[in-house]
Amino acid sequence: MSFQPCLLSKRAALVEIKERQLELLRHHLDYLQRCSPYYQRLFAASGFTPDQMTDLDQLQALPLTGKSELAKFNRDFLAVGEDEVVDICVTSGTTGEPVTLWQTETDLQRLAENERQAFVAAGITRHQRVLIGAALDRGFMAGLAYFLGLREIGATIIRAGSSSLGFLAEMLQRQRPDVLVGVPSLFLALARHLQHSGTDSTRLGIDKLICIGEPVRNPDLSLSPLGRSLAEHWSAQVLGTYASTETATAFADCEQGYGGHLLPELALLEIIDEGGNLLGSGQVGEVVVTPLGVTGAPLLRYRTGDMAVRFDQPCACGRQTPRLGPILGRREQMLKCRGTSLFPATIAHALHSMAAIQGHYIEVYPQHDFADEVKVVVGCTDPTLTAEQVSARIAALTRVKLAVTICSPAEIMRKTVHPDRRKPVTFFDYRPAHQQQKESL
Ligand SMILES: [Zn+2]
Repeated sequence: MSFQPCLLSKRAALVEIKERQLELLRHHLDYLQRCSPYYQRLFAASGFTPDQMTDLDQLQALPLTGKSELAKFNRDFLAVGEDEVVDICVTSGTTGEPVTLWQTETDLQRLAENERQAFVAAGITRHQRVLIGAALDRGFMAGLAYFLGLREIGATIIRAGSSSLGFLAEMLQRQRPDVLVGVPSLFLALARHLQHSGTDSTRLGIDKLICIGEPVRNPDLSLSPLGRSLAEHWSAQVLGTYASTETATAFADCEQGYGGHLLPELALLEIIDEGGNLLGSGQVGEVVVTPLGVTGAPLLRYRTGDMAVRFDQPCACGRQTPRLGPILGRREQMLKCRGTSLFPATIAHALHSMAAIQGHYIEVYPQHDFADEVKVVVGCTDPTLTAEQVSARIAALTRVKLAVTICSPAEIMRKTVHPDRRKPVTFFDYRPAHQQQKESL
């Protein structure tokens, strides 16, 4: 058996896309019913049978699957015999215990097709030399997906990995890639590393950066300060792509750089509110993905825990598919202030654009039932900068005025840097429901 996508045309109309998705969803549900012990149990308990699915809107009535279920019943998600498994992925486990995902031969073909479509949308051709600055080992899916997708396109692949700036710099200078794929902060550090050693990173002939893992766009889809900084450091176009190991499907910027397009034959996208209700275009909610055509560890309505906005307007590239805005933060880190939702990462973005600010942390306390009390503490070297000015800068980006306290960068370091943590802890959540979920940004 091989993976055979239906290949809707790039300009397929929405009605055609939805018809095809319904057909693929029915096939997927039928597969879950026949092969997935976890979903067999779930369907039996609710009395659901796949032939009841006659409209895509009925998807919302089906159960969601979260990371905790995937971890707790991990082996029940394996839907093939052990002999069918050709690759094992493990998720990073940053927000919970690590889980295993099993890939069959057709899953690898699907993964290749997924990444082929994503790279083609970004304008990658067989004539390009693409450096992958992501790991292909340690059970990661991402690096493998990029490799397989680029191989489908026929581009020249330079597997530089992400562990050594020195090695990356050497590969850049010797192998002369024109496209870089990897984490934006790594490529910013690489540009600075090159500049320190006397190499002008803007003159290395890089055309495009395909950024993974961290958003490079603002909520309005313009480039974020990080995205702009990358574009300047490399004199290159900056595009973003979002995916998770569990969902094995990319949402990639096309060349217009206007949000990550859904690949409609490979996944269904929903944005839901806290109550599980479907949200419309432009509303902030949790990203829920149903990857279609996966056979090893197939999932239904997987809650990613990532918060974003979906855009339904057609894109200038001609595609009618919905697009996903930048990931705004994790669900458990969402703050509620004066009627709007806000994420620590957005506050951090505003602070990063102020040169005098060196380090910060955010504290959140329960205020009353529907609002949080948020305090922002910043380290500052400029005695003329006032808390009011910092608050105004945050408000310009978030439309919410927050209490700001200014202290010395050394005080920020003492509070945020811990020898046993890889990254500084900049978010302190004192809301009762969040005590067990304190996460660093
Ligand atoms: Zn587009």
